[in-house]
Amino acid sequence: MALIRWTATCLSSLGFFPSSNPRLALHRRSFSRFPRRPLPPSTSRSESGDPVSSKVVLKEMEFPELEKWVQSYGFRSGQAMMLWKCLYGNNSWAHCYDELTGLKKEFRKMISENAILKALSVKEILTASDGTRKILFSLKDAQVIETVVIPCSRGRTTVCVSSQVGCAMNCQFCYTGRMGLRKHLSTAEIVEQAVFARRLFSSEFGSITNVVFMGMGEPLHNIDNVIKAAAIMVDEQGLHFSPRKVTVSTSGLVPQLKRFLCESDCALAVSLNATTDEVRNWIMPINRKYNLSLLLETLREELCSKHKYKVLFEYVMLAGVNDSAEDAKRLVELVRGIPCKINLISFNPHNGSHFKPTPEEKMIEFRNILAEAGCVVFLRLSRGDDRMAACGQLGEPGDVQLPLLHVPEQFQMAV
Ligand code: SF4
Repeated sequence: MALIRWTATCLSSLGFFPSSNPRLALHRRSFSRFPRRPLPPSTSRSESGDPVSSKVVLKEMEFPELEKWVQSYGFRSGQAMMLWKCLYGNNSWAHCYDELTGLKKEFRKMISENAILKALSVKEILTASDGTRKILFSLKDAQVIETVVIPCSRGRTTVCVSSQVGCAMNCQFCYTGRMGLRKHLSTAEIVEQAVFARRLFSSEFGSITNVVFMGMGEPLHNIDNVIKAAAIMVDEQGLHFSPRKVTVSTSGLVPQLKRFLCESDCALAVSLNATTDEVRNWIMPINRKYNLSLLLETLREELCSKHKYKVLFEYVMLAGVNDSAEDAKRLVELVRGIPCKINLISFNPHNGSHFKPTPEEKMIEFRNILAEAGCVVFLRLSRGDDRMAACGQLGEPGDVQLPLLHVPEQFQMAV
């Protein structure tokens, strides 16, 4: 999801669009390889399976893997920790060998011969009138991803990271969704967005305290790399984000959501955006596979065993589609019994969508119905929309786009 984050299983595999389209095909994660040793999971290979680099990508590895790799070259575990701190801690966030300060010469030499420190290159940084920054990063294959850094007056700065190039989910209100899925990001490409945010903006904004996986892509569609990247982000010796301040958002991929709740301590957000299957089937086609009752029943069951854990429901308000008083009352019933908070998000119009935003006074009425029923609910007004850095505005669909779906008859006046 583009800043409104959602997750998804590949819709091509669900039959939502033809998998024969090469631009929408699922690309394999790229790995690099180091010579004369068994291939670690962080090694690069081309689409054909051939090695494309003899060097490991350091940010593909959690600490235990990095430690093993360092030891395989005859260096000590303590040196691995020093390297880890150079990459993620001590305000160093090293991106090149010269920045690996404090490491012994031989150790640095081994790293320079066998490892890559950097997974992304900054292409451009845009500044919105409210101070929000959108960073465009080039990947090795020249595709571009977007990351948003959102300063907040209360001393909290959030970085919104992407997990895929494009997205397969085809949510009808989302600009990124128009792109289709172009590829999954690697662990290193995800982690490095947070490292760059700290490197570029810590002196200006103060500490970057929060991470949301609400940039381009459905994070749980790329669950292996997302869980690993989140684990690196919360490592106490490194970036040390609080697990409750790292939020992974999903459009509602039920099996992956269960796995995430089991394997990660980080926070979960679910993009709900509708109170009936009819509307959700239209605006979020993933609902045709995992409908509202399955999604919410799964959350009800899974959260029983989680101590003091609340899921965040995101609800993008679309004028005349999901913003009636009846919707608000249905929403109260739907989330009953689920420990949760609800964010009501104003829709950010863009070329790829025909929806209109709900007026602010109507959002307040909707909020009041939820609050009076005892829900914990917040209004989220748009940030960064003059630079296409707001919810649902990330990415560049280009000429090949996923189709807009048929609008149910009763909503044709609303769009
Ligand atoms: S289409 Fe957009 S909103 Fe839906 S899951 Fe993908 S990135 Fe998120």
